[in-house]
Formats: sequence, structure tokens, C-alpha cells
Amino acid sequence: MANNIPIGSPVRTQAIVNRYFVKAKKNLGQNFLVDQEAILGIVHASDIQEGDQVIEIGPGIGSLTEQLLLAGAKVFAYEVDEDLPPILKNELPDKIGNDNLSNRFKLMLKDVLKADFKTDLAGFFDLTKPVKVVANLPYYITTPIIFALAESDLNFESLTLMMQKEVAERLVASPGSKDFGPLSIAVQTEMHAKIALEVKNTSFMPRPKVDSSVVVLTSLNDKPDIENRKHFNWVVKMCFSQRRKTLNNNLKNLIPDKEQRANLIHKLGVDPKVRPEDLTISQFIVIAKAIPLKQ
Ligand code: SAM
Repeated sequence: MANNIPIGSPVRTQAIVNRYFVKAKKNLGQNFLVDQEAILGIVHASDIQEGDQVIEIGPGIGSLTEQLLLAGAKVFAYEVDEDLPPILKNELPDKIGNDNLSNRFKLMLKDVLKADFKTDLAGFFDLTKPVKVVANLPYYITTPIIFALAESDLNFESLTLMMQKEVAERLVASPGSKDFGPLSIAVQTEMHAKIALEVKNTSFMPRPKVDSSVVVLTSLNDKPDIENRKHFNWVVKMCFSQRRKTLNNNLKNLIPDKEQRANLIHKLGVDPKVRPEDLTISQFIVIAKAIPLKQ
């Protein structure tokens, strides 16, 4: 439907809410963006170029989707709320430049955690080219989504993700920081992470309790050599299972034998009393290599 007022402006969002009796579903993490500056900030941070192939997770009523399309992207969106597809179909512009909406936008009603990206995207995206992910993530599953993206074999150019500020800080944290943990390590062994912008809770409808940040993740040129990523992420999680305890204590479940544990700690060149957040990523790689694969 032609409408010059952006979907993400408060008046248009309110009109859509009234027209379709939209009730934001808390259990699906629905906090719709109603701040055009923040929406354009996300589009800018993701550096969308004409023809970019973008996966959007959770388009909601389309406020970000619309601006991604207008910036030139081809958008494939995953959404779980079955009330939303008819709204998106009606409210997104019918034409984007000379293209019909259907050439530039495809919606899949599916939990993104069950996505099989290569199969889902085939036929709509050219998978010989990289894709970007842009999303205002549903907060209740932010961390599993990031792990799933980090473990996927899709060729990502960048991920531009809005999330709770506190999760964003864990993503960009360095060794030695209280925020450094399994999420920081899973992400930073694959990608470079930086916070691009902060967004206040007043930019959403309904308002979440906390502020948000937009993180841009770009592929590392020089990735560390990790043979089995699932195994590596599991070992790291085990090392942090009791964050306040020493590395030696956390390693007990992975290496029950005291002497073997002492040998590994010696090899790492660290004090046995060191806490997991004080290790570097290279040291976690050494630990993962020393632990047998789970059957
Ligand atoms: N992009 C919209 C915006 O910025 O206004 C909506 C963002 S809202 C924070 C999160 C969206 O993710 C909602 O539309 C919600 O229905 C959707 N969602 C929740 N769980 C999902 C899942 N498992 N897979 C795909 N989408 C999901």
C-alpha cells in the first residue's frame, strides 16, 4: 500500500495497531521500533548497498524491513507470529523502485532457531554471494540466535543486531573484563564485534525495561584454527560453568584426573587459581584441543 509516512513513525505504527488490533506479544519479544532515527541508524550501520541480500529476523510490522528495502536490499525475513504476514503484505510498499514487492521481499513463517539457511534461502538469494543479517532481535532468545548464527556455515558479510545493552557488552568484552565469557568467545573467534549505536528504551512500543545497543559483527580475515566449533563452544561453556571459581575447579568435570589437569594448566602457562575470564581466546583453543570430542 502506498504511504509516505514510514511504518516506524509513531503515528503510522499507531494507525497499524488500531487497524489490525495488533497486541504486542510479550512471549515473542515484541517491542516494535517507533524511532525513525534509530531505524535509519541500523540501516546505516549495516551499510546496505543496492542489491545486498539481507536476512531479517523478526520483521514485526515492517518498520526496519521497509527501510532496508528502500535502501536497496533484497530481504528474506523469518517471523514466527502468524498474525503478521497479512499486515506486512498490506503495509509494505507494493513497489520498490521498478520492482514488485515479491521480487524484493520474502517472508518465511518459521522459528529462526529451526532455520536451515541454505535450503530456506535457495531460489531467492544467490548463495554464491555473501549475505548480511540485520535484526532487532527478540530479546528472549538473543543469545541462542547469536550462537546459531556463529555456528552456521552461511557466508555472512556482516551481522547488524540490536539487543539488550548488557548482552552487547558481553559480545564486545575483552579478556579480564567481568563481561568476558562464552558469548564473547563464540563470537570473537569468528567475527570482529563493535557497538555502532545505543538506543533508549523510549524508542520502542511497548517500552522494554532496559536500553539497547546495535552491534555490528564482521567476518575476521584471520580466523583462529578451530577444528570443531560445537566442541569448542561446549568446552568454553564448561570452563565458565562456575564463573567465580578457578579454572582448575571448572576443569574438574572435563578432566577428572588431577595430574592431567595440572599438565594442561602448566602448558597454558597460567596460575591454577586463575579465573576463566582471565584467559585469552588462544588459551581456550589449547584447552579445547586437549579435551576429547563428546560422543
Ligand atoms: N523488526 C521489528 C521492529 O524492529 O519493530 C520487530 C522486532 S521485535 C523486537 C522481535 C520480532 O521477532 C517480533 O516480530 C517477533 O514476533 C519475532 N520473533 C520472535 N521469536 C522469533 C523466532 N523464534 N524466530 C523468528 N522471529 C521471531
